[in-house]
Amino acid sequence: MITIALAGNPNCGKTTLFNSLTGATAHVGNWPGVTVDKREGTCKKGSQPVSVVDLPGIYSLSPYTPEEVIARNFILDSKPDCVIDVVDSTNLERNLYLTTQFLEMDVPVVVALNMTDELDKRGDKIDAKYLEEVLEVPVVRISAFTGYGIKDLINRAIAASSRKRRGISVLASTAVSDMIAKVAERMNDETESPVFHAIKLIEGDSVEREVHKKSTAYADELLADFDDEVFGKDIEALVANERYNYITAHYSPALKKKEGDNKKLTKSERIDRVLTHKIWGIPIFALIMFVIFHLTFSEDFLFLGAMGAFGKYRGDEAQWICFEGSYFEGLFGSSDGINSPGVILANLVNGLTGMIQGGVTDGLTSIGTAEWAVGLVGDGILGGLFAVIGFLPQILLLFLFFSILEDSGYMARVAFILDRIFRRLGLSGRAFMPMIMGFGCSVPAMINTRTLADERERTATIRVIPFFSCGAKLPILTAIAGGMIGAFGVGDAGLITFLMYFVGLVVALASVLVMRNTTLRGTLTPFIMELPEYRAPGFKSTMLLLWDKCKHFIKKAFTIILASTIIIWFISHFGWKWNYLPDERMGESILASLGSLIQPLFTPLGFGAQLTDGLAGAGWVFAVAAITGLVAKENVIATFGTLAAAVVTGFVADEALGGVDAVTKLIGVTGISGAGCIAFILFNMLTIPCFAACATAKSELPKGKFKWTLLFWVVTSYSVAAMVYTVGAFVWPIAIWAVVIAAAVAGIILFNIKAKKKAKAKEIKA
Ligand code: GDP
Ligand code: MG
Repeated sequence: MITIALAGNPNCGKTTLFNSLTGATAHVGNWPGVTVDKREGTCKKGSQPVSVVDLPGIYSLSPYTPEEVIARNFILDSKPDCVIDVVDSTNLERNLYLTTQFLEMDVPVVVALNMTDELDKRGDKIDAKYLEEVLEVPVVRISAFTGYGIKDLINRAIAASSRKRRGISVLASTAVSDMIAKVAERMNDETESPVFHAIKLIEGDSVEREVHKKSTAYADELLADFDDEVFGKDIEALVANERYNYITAHYSPALKKKEGDNKKLTKSERIDRVLTHKIWGIPIFALIMFVIFHLTFSEDFLFLGAMGAFGKYRGDEAQWICFEGSYFEGLFGSSDGINSPGVILANLVNGLTGMIQGGVTDGLTSIGTAEWAVGLVGDGILGGLFAVIGFLPQILLLFLFFSILEDSGYMARVAFILDRIFRRLGLSGRAFMPMIMGFGCSVPAMINTRTLADERERTATIRVIPFFSCGAKLPILTAIAGGMIGAFGVGDAGLITFLMYFVGLVVALASVLVMRNTTLRGTLTPFIMELPEYRAPGFKSTMLLLWDKCKHFIKKAFTIILASTIIIWFISHFGWKWNYLPDERMGESILASLGSLIQPLFTPLGFGAQLTDGLAGAGWVFAVAAITGLVAKENVIATFGTLAAAVVTGFVADEALGGVDAVTKLIGVTGISGAGCIAFILFNMLTIPCFAACATAKSELPKGKFKWTLLFWVVTSYSVAAMVYTVGAFVWPIAIWAVVIAAAVAGIILFNIKAKKKAKAKEIKA
């Protein structure tokens, strides 16, 4: 079967084309050695079945980003039978820049002029015949969106596959053409695509020069005498300039803009006047984010509760929305307000899973199953799995919103707006997207860092992603904040939650700043990214993407969660003599004794031992909860719920009362202080994330960095929690912490000055 590769700029419609070519045969994997998505599938729409590969989107074939290296290595080494160069015809000149580079390789190329539907709408025209003549390769007008021209495209590509093609260059009559010809002549016997390689050597492409040492020496000889009036020895810039000159002179005439349309702003430009405005750009973005989170998480969707209107007018007629006493309690809202769509979906799923869980438990009990087996299946296995499924609706909803923002072209602009600010921290604007995604779930957020070119920047970003409190940590925040209000009778749960989010954000940004100035120093690639046109995302591709994420989430989280909940259930319900313990006697379990063992570790954080009598007795609950959180953050509150029964005399775990009630009781019994509670939240928020996130971090981080990352999480969470607790409880340690922080900052500055001096000395020597 012949292989056809789809290549082109980011956002030119490759994946849309790929999906409509391959349909259900597609599968997503990784490119070997790197973590960029690789899509492969079979297309049966043409005269014969062909294998199709979707290459990553790129702007050029230089070796600066992993995407560029993958794309060019695939074409040069795996030798597809044909390359379909997907061109966004609403952005013809910029896209043809990459085309000129494909033409230099000895591979059959077919140009697919995509987005012609959009072009027609604008009234612009492209003369495909003319382009075909000047490019000397087949050119087909298509719309990946509507399916127009796709069959023709695949048949032309199949036909082109059987004809050998030699690389040609648009640089043929420029100042460097002589050098190219000479080097290419030399390389002719050594390699295929000699023209392509010759140009790369002359441009100074570091990867190519490593591989072709002999020809590099020859190229350097020629280059020694070369000096351009304008560009001097900067061949790369010269070549880029010549490519654009050639495109303007020879290819651009193919495009006929609608008469009289030259001066009018395009739709995208008009939208950008507002959305990327110098002053309003960021507030508008913040507002959009707020609306998205509100739609997903709010339990007071229309602000009726906040306005005080809801409680007043609700009355008994509104009871129907509350489903009081059923599995679906609070489905549409409560006395605090009406739920957002995200919460309604989550409640619906939780109601259903609760019903299943209750049904199974009752069923097992009624047929006389042993108590421990009922517990294992009901609480251990189903409880653990359903806790995760319960978060799926909201996580998917967030994904949906984000993928709409991304596909529409808006996210590229936000990265652009934020680039200026991020640069001061040592990050590029692209790092922002994974961070925002971290509020949903760290797993996809870490995977999303693949768009970062600099490996060290990527490492730093992955490390701080867990500090952006994910959906699973939200219950910790709300339950403990609520519990504190209940136990101490003062405070505002909403405010505490918000402040915790904010602290996470500050710690993340401060950590990045420190890392990028010490262990992870690196160059930032300039943020060159042409902004794609705004366009409405396709329904089918959005759904496919969502399904992809859903599968990934379920597979990754479930294998781990299932295994770990079973283990935790066993060690919390069995003693050392392997005797079964019911909930009320959990204090004698293996887990409890392990908890008492590690409990002293948390003393400096306010939830360890010896500070008060209460904590010494039952404080192991906090230690255990924090440890179970390493499996999945949902476990923290779940553990509270079950363990409350063990340590609080007379407390009957009541599902309907929820985590807040258990926490209030626990705070009362253990005697933990308010500062200790806050420290507990912060420790859980900032420490090692759940198994799923750790597994992802391990596979996404460069080799050898994972163990340092674990250490970083432990040290950061421990010190921040200790700082907050000691200052909150005693105030005076603020002086000590101030000295510690000042010393650290001074150390970093001194270290940097020294490093700079060393680098200078080296330079002088050289
Ligand atoms: P990729 O980055 O090259 O994989 O591009 P995608 O396939 O993700 O497409 C980027 C955006 O362009 C998506 O919102 C698509 O729905 C849209 N798109 C793709 N092909 C067409 C097309 O032929 N016409 C129109 N109007 N939009 C398209
Ligand atoms: Mg794509």
